[in-house]
Amino acid sequence: MEIDVPRARAETEGVGHGIHLNAAGSALMPRCVVDAQVRHIHDEAAHGGYEACQHAQGQIARTYAALGELLNCRPEQIALTDSATTSWQRIVRALPWQAGDRVLTGEAEYASNYITLLQLARHLGVEIAVVPSDADGQIDVDRLADTIDARTRLVALTHVPTNGGLVNPAADVGAVTRAKGVAFLLDACQSAGQIDLDVRRIGCDFLSATGRKYLRGPRGTGFLYVHPDWSDRLEPASLDMRSARWTAADAYTPQPGARKFETFEFNYAGVIGLGTAVDYALSWGLPAIEARIGWLASTLRRRLDRIPGVTIRDLGRDTCGICSFTLDGWSAEAVKAALAEQHIRVTVSERAATRLDMDRRRLDAVVRASVHYYTTEEELDRLCDAVAELAPASAA
Ligand SMILES: *Cc1c(COP(=O)(O)O)cnc(C)c1O
Repeated sequence: MEIDVPRARAETEGVGHGIHLNAAGSALMPRCVVDAQVRHIHDEAAHGGYEACQHAQGQIARTYAALGELLNCRPEQIALTDSATTSWQRIVRALPWQAGDRVLTGEAEYASNYITLLQLARHLGVEIAVVPSDADGQIDVDRLADTIDARTRLVALTHVPTNGGLVNPAADVGAVTRAKGVAFLLDACQSAGQIDLDVRRIGCDFLSATGRKYLRGPRGTGFLYVHPDWSDRLEPASLDMRSARWTAADAYTPQPGARKFETFEFNYAGVIGLGTAVDYALSWGLPAIEARIGWLASTLRRRLDRIPGVTIRDLGRDTCGICSFTLDGWSAEAVKAALAEQHIRVTVSERAATRLDMDRRRLDAVVRASVHYYTTEEELDRLCDAVAELAPASAA
């Protein structure tokens, strides 16, 4: 089934306020997600936060079930958090690291993840090995397989980087980690909501993601999938009275399943908003979302590529809704500012967000235009016209 774009836009207030090409930063929420949150906040105001939470038990349970449907797992395998980074760190901090253990990652790795790995290296003596990319710019899966050794404890891979349209071959990596018996943590922060994810098909042990990006959920929401084998074996670095029970004066028992990776306090309006956003995505269908976003983004790349001075910077054999480019004679910031004057909202990916990749390609910054299924071809034309006006050849 194809996306009914006029309906999607009618259900999205933000499309009336300029051209928003920042789904990779924080996408426009559909009205149902806004309404669900506002209703809950009113209920909290009327009856108190704990009482409103009681009333919302069904909706809260639905958030876990909806995420289970999204990822093809059981609700008990989902933990809710406040961000993708929190989710990712809860796993990495729970693994029983010893000096000399190795973690393998790729060139597309995200700053917050890599900083945590550097902390493990600095404080615990963990060794980081970066698996090079292949000629297409995706992680070289054969090299990955060769690099895994007896000391390798974890493969941590970013599925879709923050700075471009690359889609790393997650399922190929999963096949390798399964065969070698090494844990696999997939950062699906940019892919959740735009790519049809299935944790069984991918073969990952853990998956982290956020609500606000392609899922169109609220800010301050994130989630984590944990394979049941691992939730039994790991103990989070921090436990509280939700993630564990205080069973005797001198004893505690962590909760079973992914629940042990949660903490007590939640913004429940956000939890309900996230569940509503996931249900909304499921109602369109992830294959339809993926197809439309992929088509829009390749259309945009083709049109941008025709503009003199533009260089498309996206890597990979498979690409998604993030388009990155540079324009000769212009800094990425200046392009962003010039487009903002015409109410076209793109962002800049700085070197420090994905330093391994940007250093290798000698890039300081790229312009990032990230489309969603509610984006129209006409909006892409407006972007391309605006970029063409800036382009050096048209000034000559
Ligand atoms: C945005 C992003 C994150 C961090 O998500 P938060 O919800 O802000 O923690 C992690 N990984 C990638 C690839 C991202 O683009």
